[in-house]
Amino acid sequence: MADVQLLPTTLINQIAAGEVIERPASVVKELVENSLDAGATHVEIILQKAGRELIRVTDNGSGMTPENAHLSLERHATSKIRSFEDLTTVVSMGFRGEALPSIASISHFTLRTRTPNTDTAHEIRLEGGQIISEGPTAGDIGTSISVAHLFYNVPARRKFLKSDSTELSQCVDLVKALAIAHPQVGFRLMEGRRSLLEVSAGQDLETRLKAIFGAETITLLLPVQAQQGDDCLKGFVSPLGQYQPTRQKIFFFINSRPVDSKIFHQALREAYGLHMGPGRYPCAFLFLQLPAHQVDVNVHPAKREVRFRTEREKLTFLVQALSAVLHTSGSGAPVPFAATTPTGLPFLAPSSPPFTPQPFGLQPSTDKLTAFNTPSFPRPSVPAITQTQFRVAQAPVATHGWQFLSFLHTQYALFSTPEGLALVCLPAAQARIAFENIEAALLRAPESQNLLIPALLQIDGALSTVLKTHQKILARQGFHLAPFGQGTWRLEAIPSWLSGENGFHGSPEALLVAELHALGEMSSADESLLHQRLAHVAAQHAQVTITHTAAAVRLVDQLLSCRQPLKSPSGAPTLWHISVDELKKRFFL
Ligand code: ADP
Ligand code: MG
Repeated sequence: MADVQLLPTTLINQIAAGEVIERPASVVKELVENSLDAGATHVEIILQKAGRELIRVTDNGSGMTPENAHLSLERHATSKIRSFEDLTTVVSMGFRGEALPSIASISHFTLRTRTPNTDTAHEIRLEGGQIISEGPTAGDIGTSISVAHLFYNVPARRKFLKSDSTELSQCVDLVKALAIAHPQVGFRLMEGRRSLLEVSAGQDLETRLKAIFGAETITLLLPVQAQQGDDCLKGFVSPLGQYQPTRQKIFFFINSRPVDSKIFHQALREAYGLHMGPGRYPCAFLFLQLPAHQVDVNVHPAKREVRFRTEREKLTFLVQALSAVLHTSGSGAPVPFAATTPTGLPFLAPSSPPFTPQPFGLQPSTDKLTAFNTPSFPRPSVPAITQTQFRVAQAPVATHGWQFLSFLHTQYALFSTPEGLALVCLPAAQARIAFENIEAALLRAPESQNLLIPALLQIDGALSTVLKTHQKILARQGFHLAPFGQGTWRLEAIPSWLSGENGFHGSPEALLVAELHALGEMSSADESLLHQRLAHVAAQHAQVTITHTAAAVRLVDQLLSCRQPLKSPSGAPTLWHISVDELKKRFFL
C-alpha cells in the first residue's frame, strides 16, 4: 500500500474550489461579498465572455495591507471568524476563509489592493495557486481582483459549464440579488463594453427596485410587513391576478443574504394557491430578519441554501403574513362576494371604495397582522383581515365564541361570532382540513397498512411508466405496489393516514390512480411538492354531508386551527365573515 501523504496545498485548494466554485457566478458571488464585507460603497464587476475569460471585481472598500493581502491567499485565512461560536452566528457574508485561495488555484489570478494609509497599491499575481509575482504598483484605495481563464487547469469543470447566455444570466441574477440586498451600495455590471446593470450608491429599497425593474412594475406591488416574536418579514409582492411569465422577479433574503429557500417558494405557492402556476408567477421581494442562531447558513458550501431550526413554524408565519396581505387587499382577483353579487347575496357586496394599494414605501397597517401574534393567544391561526369590511374573527375565539345557527342549502353553515356573522362553506372547509392533516401525516414518514386481500389494478401505458418512475416515492407515502404482469399491479399496502379521521373518504385505488395522473403532469421530482400534490388530490375526497350541529361545530373548530383557514387547497374561500359594524352600515343604522 502507498504511504499516507499530506495533500499538496494547491490540490487541497482545488478540491475546496470544487465545492464552492461551480461557475463564473460563484466567483462573482465570493468576490462581491468580500467587497461588501470590506465596507465598499461602490462595486464594479466586469465580465468577458460570460466570465469564462475574465471576471474583475473592483471595490472602494477598506483594502488590505501587503501582509494581509498575502495572508488572504492562504487557506483558512479570514478576518471574520475566530471561534466555533462565531461560526454559529455568522453575520458577515464570507466566513470560510477559503474563497480566495480556491479561486486562485483554478485561474490566473491578480489581486491589487490599497488601504487609505498608503500611496501605493500592492499587487500579487498567481497562476494555478502559485505566486508568480508580487510588489508595489499604482492603484486606487480599495481592492480589485481579476480572475482570468477560470478552470483553465480543471477541464472537467470547464466542460460542465453551460452556454454563455446561461452563465451570464446566472451572474446577472446574482448581482441583482446582491444589489437588492444592499441598496445603499452602488453597483455596475459590464460584459465587455455592454452595461448590464448600473445603480448608484445611497438608494433606499424602493428606489433600488425601481431602478432595476422599472417603476411601472414596482408601484403596483403590495407592501408586506409582519412580526412574530423575533422574526420580522418585510418586502413587496404582486397582488393576486398580476403575474409575470417567469420566476425572474422572485427574490428571497434572510438576514440580508440572498437565499434560495424552499420554504419561501412553498409559502408563495400556498398563499397564491391556484392563482399561481406555470407561466404565472408573482413578483416577490421578501426579506426575513431573524436571530442568526435560528438559521443554518452552513448547509451548502456556497451558502445558497439555508436550513431553519423550526421549519414548520417559519412556513406558517410566512403563509399567514402573505395571505393577510393578498386576501385583504381587495385588489387583483375578484372578491368572492363581489363576484356573486348579481345572483347571490347582494347585501354582502362590499360598500367601501375599492382598495388602492398603499403608496410604495409606506408601512402597511400592522395592527391586524400583529393581532395574531398577541402572546395571550395560544396559537396564531386566522390572520384578521384589514382594509376591507369583511373581517375574519381572530382564531382564538373560534370555538368558544362561534355559535352554530343553521345549515343553509346543505353546503353551508351559518354561525354567530363575537364580532358578527360567519358563513362557512362546508366542502371547502373539509378539503382544507383534510389537506393539512394529510400533508402533516406525509411529513411524518407515514406508516402503511397491509391489505388483507391485495387489490389488483390495471395500470398500463403511460401511467405504468409514471408508476415505475415514482414507485419509491409512492412507497414512502405508504403505497406498496408489486408488478403482477400484463399491465396489472398488485396494491399490497395503503397508507394508514387514508382514514376518515383525517378527513379522507374516498377509495385508495381511485386516489392512487388520480395521484399517478398528477405525477405524470409534474416536471419536478421534489418530494415535498409531490406530498403536497398528493394531499391536494386526497383532499378532493374529503366531502361528506354534514347534518349534525356537533359535526359542524367540530369542523369549524378544526378549520380555525388550520395553518391557512381562509382558503381551500384550491384557493376557494372557506368562509366569509361580516362584522356587526358592517351590518349596521348596510342597514343605515
Ligand atoms: P472570507 O471572506 O471567508 O474571510 P476569503 O477567502 O473570501 O475568506 O477572504 C479572505 C480574507 O481576505 C477576508 O477575510 C478579508 O480579510 C480579505 N479580503 C478579501 N477580499 C477583500 C476585499 N475586497 N477587500 C478587503 N479585504 C478583503
Ligand atoms: Mg469571502
